[in-house]
Amino acid sequence: MDYDVLVLGAGIIGCAAAYELSKYNLNIAVIEQDYDIADDVALINCAIVYDGCECEDSLISRLEVMGNSIIEKVADKFNVNYKKCGHLIIAEDEKSKEKLENMYNISMSRGIKGIHLLDRDEVYKVEPNLNINVKKALYSENTGIICPYDLAIAYGEIAFDNGVNFKLQEKVLDIQKMSKGFRVITNKNKFTCNTVLNTTPGENYSIDSFNKVNKSISNLRYFLLEKEFSGNFQNIISTLNESEDKMYAIPSIEGVSIIAMKTNENITCEESIKKIGNFIGNIDEECINTVYESSFYNDSLMIDDSLIDNGYIKITGKNYNQVTTTPAIGKIVCDSIVSNLNCVLKKDFVDKRREFYRFRSLSNDERNKIIKLNPKYGKIICNCQKISEGEIIDSIRRPLGARTIEGIKRRTGVAFGSCMGSQCLSKISSILARETDKKITDIVQDSKNSKIMLSRIKEFDDI
Ligand SMILES: Cc1cc2nc3c(=O)[nH]c(=O)nc-3n(C[C@H](O)[C@H](O)[C@H](O)COP(=O)(O)OP(=O)(O)OC[C@H]3O[C@@H](n4cnc5c(N)ncnc54)[C@H](O)[C@@H]3O)c2cc1C
Repeated sequence: MDYDVLVLGAGIIGCAAAYELSKYNLNIAVIEQDYDIADDVALINCAIVYDGCECEDSLISRLEVMGNSIIEKVADKFNVNYKKCGHLIIAEDEKSKEKLENMYNISMSRGIKGIHLLDRDEVYKVEPNLNINVKKALYSENTGIICPYDLAIAYGEIAFDNGVNFKLQEKVLDIQKMSKGFRVITNKNKFTCNTVLNTTPGENYSIDSFNKVNKSISNLRYFLLEKEFSGNFQNIISTLNESEDKMYAIPSIEGVSIIAMKTNENITCEESIKKIGNFIGNIDEECINTVYESSFYNDSLMIDDSLIDNGYIKITGKNYNQVTTTPAIGKIVCDSIVSNLNCVLKKDFVDKRREFYRFRSLSNDERNKIIKLNPKYGKIICNCQKISEGEIIDSIRRPLGARTIEGIKRRTGVAFGSCMGSQCLSKISSILARETDKKITDIVQDSKNSKIMLSRIKEFDDI
């Protein structure tokens, strides 16, 4: 067999599973169609680490509780941006008040810790800037916010450093059962393996003949507000009302606020801003840095291990809480695979991410020490976010380093500021071209068809 385990898809679940499996004496490869790992993890993600109290499904709630407690530990260990902050779920009318009380009782019966029911006055004490009609609120102490693609990249980097083979830009075309093991056919290769963990959404492989997931999708519109926005909240706030619409205000780790609006209606941006005004008070349009639209998924998550005896597990269904449940899912599928393959822990597993600097969060003394060792850290490339050339070079030279502009953005935070990269994009492209020994016209944003520069102007070729 070419591999003991093939993980298909290097999203956050594929990377977390690869990390867990890399603790064992196994020959593992991850196959990903994109240029980078974690490329499908939404760039502007709500980034909420849930605590299990909002889930209707008890099993998913348990996965959230388990994931929540693992995330707190791994974020610290892997140097991933994570902040614990409370979540206020606000009932705006009598009917939602009942729903909220029901949610509280279910949370108690599930044994979820740190949940409180607050009256109107108590809510305004916690968040004085709130502008909505509060009947009652449920306050969760144990929720948090995390940088989801940083968590996924951390899992991937450690798996890579512990011997997992990442095959990027390779698309899985089919998975076939053989008399012993599987054959995975890609656009470049045919691999044999004992076990397949399939995290890709493909449903038409030869092996897949089981139930399809129930899909549930609504529209989600995000408004990324500038730091100067006056109504900043300390906690995550969300609403519960008679309509299916839901508003979220999320204090991001970077200090800006994200306002998200989930709706099934087809409304304009101006109408959304008006609705948001009823939630957090009027927002000056000058404060809106970015508007981003996405889908809100509430599919039924399916971990199908019915064929585990034969060596096949498939994870399907996109869900709004998948970042939270990922660490738990990674551990559970790893346990199933390991007990099926009867393998042992590696003696030389290194549970550590290679160090890197987040320059802008260091003191001047710390910065000066690093600049003395490497002057590239003294050259700021992204003025809005204060990101240095040293950080960009490190993001390219790291294990599983960035090979696209998007990859550099996700690893360093470059071009996320108010100029959105208009002042630094060409500098970043030049650094990437130099570091990877490519022509600048070969540099891509994030995939094959996303070149940053199409061609050189002929007259300049001789310069
Ligand atoms: C807008 C938005 C907001 C969210 N907010 C939150 C939140 O606040 N809290 C939370 O916990 N979760 C949140 N989530 C959920 C979470 O970000 C995603 O559900 C999660 O990233 C999905 O991870 P995954 O690994 O299952 O799937 P994906 O990231 O989709 O990974 C699948 C991978 O498989 C690859 N692939 C697909 N087909 C093939 C093929 N044929 N061959 C090879 N590779 C292939 C893809 O390129 C991809 O990299 C949010 C999601 C969205 C979209």
